Amino acid sequence: MAGKRHQIAVIGGGIVGVSNALALQKAGHQVTLIDRGTPGRETSYGNAGVLSESSVAVLNSPGLLKSLPKLLFGRSNSVRFSPGFVIRRLGWMVGFLSYCTARRWRAAGHALRALQLVSLDQHKAWIAEAGVDDLLRYGGWMKVFRRQESFEAYRAELALADEVGTGYSIFDREQIRQIEPGLKPIYEKAVLYDNTCGVSNPAALTDAYVRLFIDAGGRVAKARVTGLARGEDGWTVSCDGGGDLAADAVVIAAGPWSADISGWLGYDLPLGWERGYHMHLEPGEGPQLNRAVHDVDGGFAIAPMQQGVRITTGVEIAHRDAPPDYRQVRRSVKLARDGHEMKAEIDETPWMGRRPTMVDSLPVIGPAPRHDGLFFNFGHQHIGLSMAPGSALAITAMINGEAPPMDMTPFRATRFSI
Ligand SMILES: Cc1cc2nc3c(=O)[nH]c(=O)nc-3n(C[C@H](O)[C@H](O)[C@H](O)COP(=O)(O)OP(=O)(O)OC[C@H]3O[C@@H](n4cnc5c(N)ncnc54)[C@H](O)[C@@H]3O)c2cc1C
Repeated sequence: MAGKRHQIAVIGGGIVGVSNALALQKAGHQVTLIDRGTPGRETSYGNAGVLSESSVAVLNSPGLLKSLPKLLFGRSNSVRFSPGFVIRRLGWMVGFLSYCTARRWRAAGHALRALQLVSLDQHKAWIAEAGVDDLLRYGGWMKVFRRQESFEAYRAELALADEVGTGYSIFDREQIRQIEPGLKPIYEKAVLYDNTCGVSNPAALTDAYVRLFIDAGGRVAKARVTGLARGEDGWTVSCDGGGDLAADAVVIAAGPWSADISGWLGYDLPLGWERGYHMHLEPGEGPQLNRAVHDVDGGFAIAPMQQGVRITTGVEIAHRDAPPDYRQVRRSVKLARDGHEMKAEIDETPWMGRRPTMVDSLPVIGPAPRHDGLFFNFGHQHIGLSMAPGSALAITAMINGEAPPMDMTPFRATRFSI
């Protein structure tokens, strides 16, 4: 596809699709971004806003196997599950656990680090270009531990951070008080990933990127994509209510819905969903937090946002489309009050999102093996906000026939038998 100005359709207007549309458009292509709703209002809306260069430890780790009994007996707030769903998706679950080896875990860490470094640089450049520097927060991302024992268990992740070159600082109880005076003195240890950044409103960030895209001639179509067909002259993207779209290339970036769309063309990609929730609370009278904080023992994160103090949950393993179950977010809010003073809940109903996660926890970024001009860009699990720009630059380079900015081997679709 090299060396031409192409008509490209990007399906899905989450942070991944929006970034992809922007990068392609900046490379000179004529791009239509298609979303069935307002871009950035699904999974990309409600996250903790962390722009990470340090989230290299995927969930399928050797440590996960050790903590399985605790998780299975429902004693963890960080992971909850619907037993019926786990049984129905047993193949995927077993597949996920099969990646819990030290070798795979370390390899995934290296791959994700490379993607995150490129992404964070590009985020900073686009944020400056979009004139929304007020959204960007420096000062790192902090993991806090209520129990020394939990910190000791975390040393494996620190060893991986050392191996991939992520900077961090370790603090004890008194130092935590100085760095985050808004935290109550219940934490024994903290790890601050100094170079990680954050945003105070992920939806506003997506909106800013959409504005950049539109101002430079990009088109946003509000439509549900219902079909994809490859003809002699290229692609036809069918949308509900008619209005088919012709394109030379198509990027599927529909987050948790991407496997459905890829499935129309015969690709069986092992995408799962890790659901998560948030609730905003009014800030308390005391000092506010300077950064997002992850309470490892509590299994939730607290992130200061423009909308209020956002409490985000860990993982709920349930069907993507099952009704929400607010128990995990209710418990997270209760536990969060142990560590940080906050006033009343702001949202009438908690928000729910679905992290799109491949069975090996690495996104799929690259060409579809059996269709010219079709590209996959999804499965960014817990760190899609962080990794969207790098994924976008990589797809753009591939479409242009150039070398991507990082090794794409770990992300290729053909690592699965599809
Ligand atoms: C509680 C929580 C906290 C998180 N915290 C962080 C964090 O701090 N940092 C971080 O980096 N990541 C975080 N994440 C992960 C991150 O939010 C996701 O990885 C990311 O938002 C995924 O983006 P996406 O664009 O792939 O998917 P989405 O944002 O879900 O976008 C997919 C889009 O596709 C559209 N779509 C689907 N089907 C169709 C169709 N047929 N036709 C047209 N459009 C369609 C949808 O409308 C949607 O807009 C968190 C996630 C959760 C749930």
